[in-house]
Amino acid sequence: MVDIASKINPKLAPILDRALSGQSLDLDEGYALIESDASQLTTLMWAASELRNNTQQTRKITYSRKIFLPLTNLCRDRCGYCTFVKGPEQAGAHTMSPDEVLKVARQGQSLGCKEALLSLGDHPEYRHPEILDTLREFGFNSTIDYVAAMSRLILEETGLLPHTNCGLLDKDEISVIAPWNVSMGIMLESTSMALHNVGGAHYKTVTKAPVDRLNTLSNAGELGVAMTTGILIGIGETHKDRVDSLMKIRKINEEYGNIQEIIIQNFRAKNDTRMSAIPDANVLDLLKTQAVARLFMGASMNIESPPNLNEESCQTYLLAGINDWGGISPLTKDFINPERAWPEVSKLRRLTSDAGFELRERTALFPDYVSSGKWFISSSVRQKVLDITSPDGYIKTDLERW
Ligand code: SF4
Repeated sequence: MVDIASKINPKLAPILDRALSGQSLDLDEGYALIESDASQLTTLMWAASELRNNTQQTRKITYSRKIFLPLTNLCRDRCGYCTFVKGPEQAGAHTMSPDEVLKVARQGQSLGCKEALLSLGDHPEYRHPEILDTLREFGFNSTIDYVAAMSRLILEETGLLPHTNCGLLDKDEISVIAPWNVSMGIMLESTSMALHNVGGAHYKTVTKAPVDRLNTLSNAGELGVAMTTGILIGIGETHKDRVDSLMKIRKINEEYGNIQEIIIQNFRAKNDTRMSAIPDANVLDLLKTQAVARLFMGASMNIESPPNLNEESCQTYLLAGINDWGGISPLTKDFINPERAWPEVSKLRRLTSDAGFELRERTALFPDYVSSGKWFISSSVRQKVLDITSPDGYIKTDLERW
């Protein structure tokens, strides 16, 4: 007979025990988990899955049916891995007009989408003042005003629920955008300052200082805005950096309760970037990070990894404690990773159910935020959420609609 307990590294066993009994792990415990060797990976994945399965989320895995609106691909920054950003004179540089925005939103509405993800460069006018001419032609004086107006247009004309990702924001700026958004987002990416050294992923960037990104999350917390954030793995950070990043996010959530989701996103190298020769984050490393994120952030945190960045192996994420696939679009591509097509929802449903889970659609505000009445949203958005969700906070099923 095999003594199963003896197979678990004795250093990890009490840590896993504490995590599974709902206790909060400290930094050293997080480091021990993330620095454990490959022989412990399946144990970490088992423990992370157990922790997820023992919560109210049980066997439900969520996704959001969305459209992706790259409002402008001008940006004040230049990150080492980014192909989204363009200079004003570069082929492909584009700022969407209100007509373009509405056209895509209406198409998304007709395809049953519920979320409009507005994703754009950070304060492009700080680097490229010429964008102000374009914005003024549309009737606006700043990118922030334009984001707010487009969010409102989408919400009022189509009922799609906007979720904006536009970089660093102070409280005044969040106050302009938030009334027309159901939630907002900013990736922390990493707390590692080594990434800012010569040649690093964040070398010479002005928006990737961790303290500024954390401030945006705190600003949103003070204003009661639900935020999605996350870490980008494989961009030169250490394993300990990942745990440090998760700890910073956890502290903000402990203070404000506004972190609705953490994305664990794997780096994929792209041609024509400074980091084109850096190897992609490997799948085993991703699985370990997902499992540690679940154990470190606790049972109730929503943890996502996008399926299109590893479509061939994404089913295994479900064995490492994630509970969300993020946004999937039947209409628009992933403009940040344009070479990686979204899987069809029917395929995602099959992958999910084959692993023993039920795929459920959510809004860009997570079901636990909707159903708990923790309304981090304005009254103009609230009614639209209530119209399309059931009491448990998920999008109504066909049966519930009829
Ligand atoms: S990753 Fe974001 S902040 Fe960095 S250059 Fe691209 S659009 Fe700008």
